[in-house]
Amino acid sequence: MTAPQTPRVTVIDHPLIQHKLTLIRSENTNTAEFRSLMREISALIAYEATRDLPLRYQPIRTPMAEMMAPVLAADKKLVLVSILRAGNGILEGMLSLIPSARVGHIGLYRDPVTLIPVEYYFKMPPDSGERDVIVVDPMLATGNSAVAAVYRLKEINPKSIRFICLIAAPEGLAHFHDHHPDVPVFTAAVDDYLDPHGYIIPGLGDAGDRLYGTR
Ligand code: URA
Repeated sequence: MTAPQTPRVTVIDHPLIQHKLTLIRSENTNTAEFRSLMREISALIAYEATRDLPLRYQPIRTPMAEMMAPVLAADKKLVLVSILRAGNGILEGMLSLIPSARVGHIGLYRDPVTLIPVEYYFKMPPDSGERDVIVVDPMLATGNSAVAAVYRLKEINPKSIRFICLIAAPEGLAHFHDHHPDVPVFTAAVDDYLDPHGYIIPGLGDAGDRLYGTR
């Protein structure tokens, strides 16, 4: 059920992530457990997806000696962008690792006639053009929202963009990279296929509904 790694798609198959992914998929997992698992999985994915963040060295004094010690060079310059509403479930886990990151939100709904994503909310921190951006949405299904969100973000010309999800569909990944071959995707799994309603199979159901208990 996991795809081979490519430079554009990193499937993070760490045993802890895979174990928690199984728990979050299960229909027996309740809302509170679902939320907490999403937070934990997101933090673990963030750990891998930020592996190449640059460091700078600053002088500190330990109880024993002075040293030049590494810190993130640009943690305050990092922007996490949540695709509403399920993206918010990933934010918390990521912010637990990178608490100084700034946060943007993009709201899109699907026009019932044209099926094209329509933007209803867009709020980014100032100077986002000078920042590295990580877009988060738990499910990369058709890819339509992710494609539209990244086009919108490219209008403000950030330094870099990467995309994090929990589960991707092969169709969504292909669609996303047809439009944005320059944007790497980090995911915990690539599942089998999309059903006619755009749900990922086997997936985990509707991430927003399970996160917020709305169904
Ligand atoms: N969005 C979800 O929440 N789940 C899916 O399976 C597909 C899109």
